[in-house]
Amino acid sequence: MNLDKEIFNLIEKENTRQINGVELIASENFVSEQVKQAVGSCLTNKYAEGYPGKRYYGGCEIVDEVETLAIDRAKKLFGVEYVNVQPHSGSQANAAVMLACLNAGDKILGFDLSHGGHLTHGSPVNFSGILYNAIFYGLNKEGNLDYDNIENIALKEKPKMIICGASAYTKDWDYERLRNIADKIGALLLADISHPSGLIASKLLNDPAKFCHIITTTTHKTLRGPRGGMIMVGKDFENPFNQKFKSGKLKSMSTLLNSAVFPGSQGGPLEHVIAAKAVAFKEALDSRFVDYSKQVIANAKTMVSEFIKLDYNVVSGETMNHCMLIDLRSKNINGKTAEDILQAGDITVNKNMVPFDTESPFITSGIRIGTPAITTRGLNENNCKKIVQFIDEILTNVNNLDRVNEVKFDVNNYMRKFPMFKV
Ligand SMILES: *Cc1c(COP(=O)(O)O)cnc(C)c1O
Repeated sequence: MNLDKEIFNLIEKENTRQINGVELIASENFVSEQVKQAVGSCLTNKYAEGYPGKRYYGGCEIVDEVETLAIDRAKKLFGVEYVNVQPHSGSQANAAVMLACLNAGDKILGFDLSHGGHLTHGSPVNFSGILYNAIFYGLNKEGNLDYDNIENIALKEKPKMIICGASAYTKDWDYERLRNIADKIGALLLADISHPSGLIASKLLNDPAKFCHIITTTTHKTLRGPRGGMIMVGKDFENPFNQKFKSGKLKSMSTLLNSAVFPGSQGGPLEHVIAAKAVAFKEALDSRFVDYSKQVIANAKTMVSEFIKLDYNVVSGETMNHCMLIDLRSKNINGKTAEDILQAGDITVNKNMVPFDTESPFITSGIRIGTPAITTRGLNENNCKKIVQFIDEILTNVNNLDRVNEVKFDVNNYMRKFPMFKV
């Protein structure tokens, strides 16, 4: 039936890989059938540059309703006044925010990539570090944020924007403290909640909406929607740095953000993805999603304590969210080797820099592990103990491929007991 055998055979192979393996990449998840159907729908055919009611193309009446539903559901889910669901990705969302708020060369203060931050928070290889003057804060020796240190840097350097949020930080954030720091120097505070947004929507972590000027997120990580981004503002306000779109008077942040997404940095929105975002938001508004988020955290905490029992060095010694960082230096394995050998056992993790890493970003000294995807497949605390045993068995047999193959066989049999997510 499928004429393009090459591609559809590959999709089938990827499907088998996902079913047989243990997916522990902290930024991944498995979407529901309805989310997948929306992404694969006829909405992909539609051009809709602009916003609901103000489009540059005809025939947008129905996608207007789709996008409006997505916005309304996101507002309810996060308790915010303004939402833009058009960013194609988390990186695009951050690019639009910076375009709306900064001039080229302005100073931004972000969380160091090698300590758990993200490329778009000022890395020299990313637009954020190329266009803006980026400086960083990091973790202390214990692997925690040091807010006094952040305040000292901010008071000395006076960045125009402070960015909080991370791709690999296992503690919660004190948004109130960061807002106090930002207010002392008149800086804007951006919270990038790409990783924990599902847990925040479930009200299991601190709420950034009260304290941060702007919030960005992806929709495909703990939020369990399609790949994409989103921008939110808790309470709309006039942007104090309104140089970019000067018109003689201050413009509201929401107006500036809309302009910065389209036409500022994107063309037509992906209405099929926006429909899938709306489906995911509806799922996340259901109380079963809160149960899911609680299980995500319980599973991560269980894995951390199992790793500690087996003498692994867990960065900062605990987790309060969905992920953990394991420093493998005490086990004499680097991150790259660990990633490769675990993959040979059909366990997918990613190598990751650990604070004060002595290896390059291509090798690294650690791995990052997350529980959102396996929790979606129905694994509980007991199952997570078993997964840690599989990981330990593989990592203690790095040079014994026969043994790794045996474990892989057990892993495949174990995972086939857990069906993919259906709603
Ligand atoms: C994942 C992530 C992003 C980027 O998301 P993409 O959709 O991959 O562009 C941005 N910020 C943080 C903190 C992230 O973890």
